[in-house]
Amino acid sequence: MKTVVVIGGGASGILAALTAAERTENRVVLLERQQRLGRKLLATGNGRCNLTNTAAAPERYHGAEAAFVRPALEAFGPAETLDYFHSLGLLTVEEYGGRVYPLSNSSNSVLDVLRFALDRAGVEQRCACPAREIRRNGGTYTVVTEQGSLEADALIVACGGCAGAKLGGVTDGYSLLKPLGHKRTNLYPALVQLLTAPEFPRALKGVRCPASLRLTAGKILLAESEGELQFTETGVSGPAVFDLSRAAATGGEGLTLRIAFLPQTEAELRELLLSRCARFPDLECGEILTGMVHNRLGRMLVREAGLSAARPLKALREQELGALVRVLRDFPLPVRGTEDFDHAQVTAGGIRASGFNPETLESWFMPGLFVCGELLDVDGDCGGFNLQWAWSSGRLAGRLGR
Ligand SMILES: Cc1cc2nc3c(=O)[nH]c(=O)nc-3n(C[C@H](O)[C@H](O)[C@H](O)COP(=O)(O)OP(=O)(O)OC[C@H]3O[C@@H](n4cnc5c(N)ncnc54)[C@H](O)[C@@H]3O)c2cc1C
Repeated sequence: MKTVVVIGGGASGILAALTAAERTENRVVLLERQQRLGRKLLATGNGRCNLTNTAAAPERYHGAEAAFVRPALEAFGPAETLDYFHSLGLLTVEEYGGRVYPLSNSSNSVLDVLRFALDRAGVEQRCACPAREIRRNGGTYTVVTEQGSLEADALIVACGGCAGAKLGGVTDGYSLLKPLGHKRTNLYPALVQLLTAPEFPRALKGVRCPASLRLTAGKILLAESEGELQFTETGVSGPAVFDLSRAAATGGEGLTLRIAFLPQTEAELRELLLSRCARFPDLECGEILTGMVHNRLGRMLVREAGLSAARPLKALREQELGALVRVLRDFPLPVRGTEDFDHAQVTAGGIRASGFNPETLESWFMPGLFVCGELLDVDGDCGGFNLQWAWSSGRLAGRLGR
């Protein structure tokens, strides 16, 4: 019998352990440093667990080795993942943008079916058992834990990244792999709130709206996105912001977020506003955007455009109209950085993928050593792509090169 040790009982480690246990000749031991398995999984999707995205494809992933994710995703993509979870008893529902959730709307359901599967498969689960060191002895590995040492014929490291520190995000995986010759890239928080000049967002704290966003460095466009934007005490958040956050974290100084609050062109907006002035000549300027955008946002934009709120629309001047169109279509918000790893959903950067065979996730120079999940230099877009990478890579690593 071969002993397979999996370090890390999160999404990717659980899938790797279940896959390795499908072969009866394997004894599988799953080590988890926290008191219970899958703590981060429970917090995903605001407690709903956006477990995959039906559009998951290599171009939705980032890292120094862009093509690295392809074999894992091709072997076990969203369709295979959903079949797998359905076979474990989970019912799912697809929502906007291909996001898939458990039908129960509760991440507990996802973790529960995985836990039952681990029990059925006879995987030995050791919680509150952090791995402290990995030693290579000829063809096998010794894993030193706080509860003694384990000998492993094959070892899967699935410690995750350092995002979401309160949910167990740590740097253990990088430290465990370093003495074995596997180095990491720089690490950045991603899928995270942007910190901006605070006055404007603070006044709108709690307001959510649809928007088109562009992140620029001077005249250079770094990234763009569309979707929900949310104002917070210190900046902006929400799915559309998360999609730009990787570019913001790695983009250096002097960045600006340019917001279009409405989808119409400048000419269309001018028309729209002029027709309002004609229809409601006695309405105060402060209310010109009422019915078009969130009322607090509307009043704030009127102020930012320099309009005097109390004057009637019939007194609106041409240049004021132009200023209003500009703030609606291209509102500039200077970016001061991103929130830190504690608040990030994912780590951009990680263990260098070039050290691993993408077809198996086995180390090129440490036979029997496999790595999966967020620990690697792979991060996905917002919307279920990161858990899909955890499932795809966990499945591949758990095959142990077969
Ligand atoms: C708040 C939040 C919401 C998110 N929502 C979504 C979402 O809806 N959809 C989506 O696709 N992605 C989401 N993500 C991202 C997603 O959760 C992660 O990308 C995914 O969990 C990574 O899986 P993993 O197995 O690589 O790492 P993890 O799930 O982090 O698991 C790693 C495990 O290893 C354990 N560990 C670490 N060091 C050791 C050690 N030395 N010894 C033993 N065990 C160790 C950790 O305690 C942890 O349980 C979210 C993340 C956060 C923080």
